[in-house]
Amino acid sequence: MAKPYEGPLSTEYIGEPLELYDDKKAWVVRWPRSLEHRHTYGLLTPFFKGLTQGKLLATKCVNPKCPAPSVWLPPRADCPDCYERMEWIEVPPEGKIYTFTMLDYAGIGIEMKTPYWQIDVEIEGVDTIFKGWLKEGKPEIGMPVKAVFRTENPTHTILDIYWVPK
Ligand SMILES: [Zn+2]
Repeated sequence: MAKPYEGPLSTEYIGEPLELYDDKKAWVVRWPRSLEHRHTYGLLTPFFKGLTQGKLLATKCVNPKCPAPSVWLPPRADCPDCYERMEWIEVPPEGKIYTFTMLDYAGIGIEMKTPYWQIDVEIEGVDTIFKGWLKEGKPEIGMPVKAVFRTENPTHTILDIYWVPK
């Protein structure tokens, strides 16, 4: 073990003075903090990996005893109807607009310039409706759209897929 330094020391303040508010009763300092949030995709990792490879992956219940075997997109690891682990399948990266709305305020973590068109896409062979955003054009119910994948410089989030008119 290294012996601690015992000689004379000289040091200095290296921070930035904090911004001060004086509300007349007490001083309040503005002290910005940042933190790193680690979020695991867990069993849904193949879906996000697929986006970076230009593939749209869903999960399918293959349990013969399932009361409602379905194809889920966004995927779920386990079937909500029979609780069995589901299988990954690739689904077509195209569909029709089921419904749409204009988004004025994106949620936290959705780093999108607003407003934008949020669309719900109906995909053949998928039993759920997949939510996304239309990059260009004006949506209409029933309008055919195709997926575009952000395979270069992916964000590793759901924003790695978006839709354009087909
Ligand atoms: Zn099932």
